[in-house]
Amino acid sequence: MDHWIERIAKELKEWNVEKHVIASGTSISGSIHIGNSCDVFIANAVGKKLRELGAESETIWIADDHDPLRKVPFPLPESYDEYLGMPYSNIPCPDGCCSSFVEHFEKPLFDVLDDFGIELTPKSGFQMYKDGLYDDYIRTSLENSEKIREIFNKFREHPLASDWLPYNPICEKCGRVNTTFAYDFDGDIVKYRCDCGFDGEMDIKSGNGKLTWRVEWAARWKIFSVTCEPFGKDHAASGGSYDVSKIISKEIFNYDAPYPVAYEWITLDGDAMSKSQGVFFTPKQWLAIGPAESLNYFIFRSKPMKHKDFSPKMVFLDLIDQFDKVEKVYFDEEEAPSEKEDKKFKKIYEISKINKKSTYCNDLDNKSDLNNENINNNENINENTNNNGNIPFRPPYRFIVVAYQIVGNDLEKIFEILKKNSQLSKSFKEKEFSNLNNVDLENFQNRVNNVINWLDIYGPKFVKFQVMKKIPRVEIPDNQKSFLNDLASLLESKDFNDATQLHDEMYEVIHKHDLKPQKAFQAIYKLILGQKQGPKAASFLLSLDKDFLIKRLRFEE
Ligand SMILES: [Zn+2]
Ligand SMILES: [Zn+2]
Repeated sequence: MDHWIERIAKELKEWNVEKHVIASGTSISGSIHIGNSCDVFIANAVGKKLRELGAESETIWIADDHDPLRKVPFPLPESYDEYLGMPYSNIPCPDGCCSSFVEHFEKPLFDVLDDFGIELTPKSGFQMYKDGLYDDYIRTSLENSEKIREIFNKFREHPLASDWLPYNPICEKCGRVNTTFAYDFDGDIVKYRCDCGFDGEMDIKSGNGKLTWRVEWAARWKIFSVTCEPFGKDHAASGGSYDVSKIISKEIFNYDAPYPVAYEWITLDGDAMSKSQGVFFTPKQWLAIGPAESLNYFIFRSKPMKHKDFSPKMVFLDLIDQFDKVEKVYFDEEEAPSEKEDKKFKKIYEISKINKKSTYCNDLDNKSDLNNENINNNENINENTNNNGNIPFRPPYRFIVVAYQIVGNDLEKIFEILKKNSQLSKSFKEKEFSNLNNVDLENFQNRVNNVINWLDIYGPKFVKFQVMKKIPRVEIPDNQKSFLNDLASLLESKDFNDATQLHDEMYEVIHKHDLKPQKAFQAIYKLILGQKQGPKAASFLLSLDKDFLIKRLRFEE
């Protein structure tokens, strides 16, 4: 069965259009998070799939930066409420680091587009008004205001006033756009009143105003010849924005509405994301703790209207485990639990995988402009991207959480620990650290960096530990001491390469000393970590330096 992205693309491909335009749009009301950027991820995936199917497509992204500020976004000071009601495009950057409020909140998204392999053409709602792209649509809407009012009223409990116009000027006096009421027009001149008491006129050609949202949405479908658009489920409700804009698009602008893709919001630890309350998680924050493909996986593993809850805390490790599994199945590194899942996993991964643009190939024409150094760099990018279609080297995250805390940020030592514990997958288990190529090393380092960040920012206390360099001052009874001594002898007697084997033989020693396993493990943790709990004992012991471990178990410094 096709993935839902593939189904949409296949349907669109049958449309009689020269080129598909997939639109996404985001309100610039604060930080752009993984919830409201779903638009971008879905639109990009549909556009990409269409191109794979041989259809022409472009993904555009429209910043709704001419909309009024309705709530002060986190973490801005309350003093920003002086800008409430004003278009984002007229508000200054909160930190003085960018040219505007809009740029300040757009930048973090733009910064990560390449990482996620997202190709889009950005547009600004504000600029569209300034450039006059909406002028004809504003004229048509004003002339058809009665018809538009009737369409709106079909879906409204309280009908709109008979002098209502589908247009809001920005008040010349107070700068607000959500407090004005346009009541008459003559050609391009619109007369309006504002709640601030101002009564004035403006020229639509100035760009200092905007169409009512549902009319604006319909207008821009036609302006950009949009054929498909993903949007949050709030717009998808019966009688909601999409339903109304669809009628306006057809009846006022004579344009068929695009193929709708409604999606469900993403909650964060069970809470609705809120830009004003600071409850959100951005794609940039994701990259700090996981590979870009894993966010795609999170978005594309289930249907768009299925509820998704995200947590960067402990359950994040489960998500990464699942992602790794799907990736390994895709590259035939591991088997799927069933034939059905094999197909499903591969479809999901295919949508989630990222083919970064190969700069080398695209720049071939300009090759003469490049010096040798640049060409080499580009070759690296090329290699880095494709790695000859091999699986990225991403050893188990959960395991690195332990290994890193034992040996620190030392790839070679971590690799040895992984090897000793049989944690390397098919393509890597016969390899030595020195056999890893540059791409492997880069992916490996990225994974370790992700783990370091996760431990630092989200890792709960109970997963954290530190190997004590000296024997900690702890009380250990004699019978436990003699168990530890025998354990040292066991480890000295042979080389273990498998945690299960060590686990079994360790239990024999525990039984010999007539200890409760829990007490025996506590003795180990106390002696090595100075605390009562720690990671799974057998693989933890295998991860430690053998000489150090034997000495410590014998209480030798
Ligand atoms: Zn800034
Ligand atoms: Zn005003």
